[in-house]
Amino acid sequence: MALHSLVIPIFNEEENVHELYRRLHQDLLMPIRNRGDDYELVFVDDGSMDRSFQLLKELHEKDQKSIVIIRFSRNFGHQMAITAGLDRARGDTVTVLDADLQDPPSIVLEMIQKWELSFDIVYAVRKKRLQEGLFKRLSANFFYRILAYSTRLDIPKDVGDFRLMSRRTVDALRGLRERHRFMRGMAKWIGFKQTYVSYVREGRFAGTTKYPFQKMLRLAWDAFTGFSLLPLRAATFLGLSSAVVSFLVALWALYIRFFTDQAIQGWTSTIIIVLFLGGVQLFCIGVLGEYVGRIFEQVKNRPLYIIEEIVAPIK
Ligand code: UDP
Ligand code: MG
Repeated sequence: MALHSLVIPIFNEEENVHELYRRLHQDLLMPIRNRGDDYELVFVDDGSMDRSFQLLKELHEKDQKSIVIIRFSRNFGHQMAITAGLDRARGDTVTVLDADLQDPPSIVLEMIQKWELSFDIVYAVRKKRLQEGLFKRLSANFFYRILAYSTRLDIPKDVGDFRLMSRRTVDALRGLRERHRFMRGMAKWIGFKQTYVSYVREGRFAGTTKYPFQKMLRLAWDAFTGFSLLPLRAATFLGLSSAVVSFLVALWALYIRFFTDQAIQGWTSTIIIVLFLGGVQLFCIGVLGEYVGRIFEQVKNRPLYIIEEIVAPIK
């Protein structure tokens, strides 16, 4: 008998909690029981301001044996919520899925079948996105391509955090305690036998996205800086090419000085060169600062999240 854990991050999802449990129960939990296995639901309430925690506790009343609720002391973000869920989950398989029913629970059964074929990580690849805005689709598309191009890891495209992991990969992933987390990249990084199933991504069941543009941008930036030295290399490249250009301009200036009589008119070119070099230098310092900032945050070595309360299963 295998135990299957489901890790579900929740941030202000009061409209979705009931329907989520209903769908989970019908499409996934019953089938899991029917095949003689067991399940565990690990809800991570990422500092919701609405009634989500209350509603989760009501679910816990109904299904005391199999529900764990971890409540954060504030909003630490989606990636931290997943981390806390993985830290707590006990299953032989652990699957992360969103609370808004964009990740259909029934797909998890297909993932479990892959796991039984001895795959360690099973991604869910979005073959189609329904009802997501044009901007979201375009920006996601752009993001996945650039990321694929700039990192050495072949981070799968069109894959979110909807994924099943075996016990040993979860244990491996738990050893990665970096602060700026991009869990998809990290899951790829640890290796093991990985595969995917594909699915149609539906729209949210209710409520609005909890990933406004700013959070999306932060995740994208964490992905680049966490997995790529490209920004640092770009700084080097800019510095180098401006040095070459400056050298050529210097030759030209010397030529003007010694072989013509127009020497005094150099003001325009001087100002251009000064401005250009100033810009390049500031840019490069900025890029360095980004990475130094990350080192600073990492060496502070704070815990990744703070738990306010745990509602544990009653056996
Ligand atoms: N989420 C979270 N903390 C946050 C933002 C989101 O735990 O700070 C959860 C959210 O409740 C949902 C999942 O992460 O279960 C994905 O968020 P959302 O559906 O808003 O993202 P989208 O599908 O729009 O990319
Ligand atoms: Mg969503």
